[in-house]
Amino acid sequence: MGQRSGRQERSKKLELALSETMKAGTEVQNNKEEVEEPKAKDQRPTSVFGVADLKNGAIGLYNVGQTCCLNSVLQVFFMNIHFTGILRRITVPPHDAQKRRNVPYQMLLLLEEMQCGKQKAVSPLDFACCLSAYQVKLFVQHDAAQLFLTIWNLIKRQMKKPELVEDLNDLYAICVQEHLACQKCSFETKRNSSMLTLPLPVLDSNSRILRTLEDSLQYFFRPEQLTDHNMCFCEHCGRKTPFLQSMKLVHLPQTLTIHLKRFCFKKSAYIHKLSHYLPFPQDLDFSAVLTKNQCQADDHEKAAWQYELFAVVAHSGSTSYGHYCAYIRSMTECQWYCFNDSEVCQVSWDDVKCTYGHSNLLWGQTAYLLIYMKKHPRSLT
Ligand code: ZN
Repeated sequence: MGQRSGRQERSKKLELALSETMKAGTEVQNNKEEVEEPKAKDQRPTSVFGVADLKNGAIGLYNVGQTCCLNSVLQVFFMNIHFTGILRRITVPPHDAQKRRNVPYQMLLLLEEMQCGKQKAVSPLDFACCLSAYQVKLFVQHDAAQLFLTIWNLIKRQMKKPELVEDLNDLYAICVQEHLACQKCSFETKRNSSMLTLPLPVLDSNSRILRTLEDSLQYFFRPEQLTDHNMCFCEHCGRKTPFLQSMKLVHLPQTLTIHLKRFCFKKSAYIHKLSHYLPFPQDLDFSAVLTKNQCQADDHEKAAWQYELFAVVAHSGSTSYGHYCAYIRSMTECQWYCFNDSEVCQVSWDDVKCTYGHSNLLWGQTAYLLIYMKKHPRSLT
């Protein structure tokens, strides 16, 4: 009980610090028009738009029972200054019960605790408990791609301000155009859609290994013939005909998440992990990887498709028993770190390359999520 009240007291302090930070954040936003209250401005913490404060050593997250996946996904969110810039502008829920169930608010509390504290690591337990109200079970190993999507959607749904929802979308949403063309009469339908990750295969349809990330990207955007039992009904022909299905890339966001589909669902319920070698580059130019037919974008848009690797969420072990950690390149220091629960250490690019994978290494780390960051934000191009 004593511990519980201690925690509550600490939360109160954080809330105070938080509301100060957010007040300051609003001032920064409006500082073009408003010059009043210079005093409050001076009190603004220097870390308003910062990442988890690396000057005091990067802060780890304790594993409070199978939370290595959650910890890795959280660190990727927190080290992204574009994301934390949005998170800091949320509206604080008025009531305690709402606060406990509000995912973006709890995320912000945790970020503040990481930045304000002097500890080498903090506990994500309150945040994990908040997620458990939304069917994200505690003390269970999750899938990082699924957990990223779940958390992202909860944040989006619970952010009250429409402009924040728009900013969050802009930061992560990949826009594509799906084409379906009848091969008999050339009648074509197009549909725009967006997604949060590019789910890239690591094998082709004949179970052959795709050799590089670029090959995998090419394969994902290849046109596909829909024949035999896959034929579609054509309105013009009035019957089922063969179709050509393709997906074209329309727009890429600032933060691009690639999901390497290394967990393979074979015929039965048995999930198989594909650990083979698949290298990925630090610098990636999408306009050079994809052909003209695979894009539906003008030159201005394509000029912004220059990316550099920001983070790798790596998985080691088997599907039934494994461990996650995250390699993240600090955006302020340009230095790679490995976030392994409460342990955080500086690493080199060669260490990150160890996550390329190897067929014979059951316990070796393999990259599962790759997060690329646009080199030049669109407004600057
Ligand atoms: Zn037709």
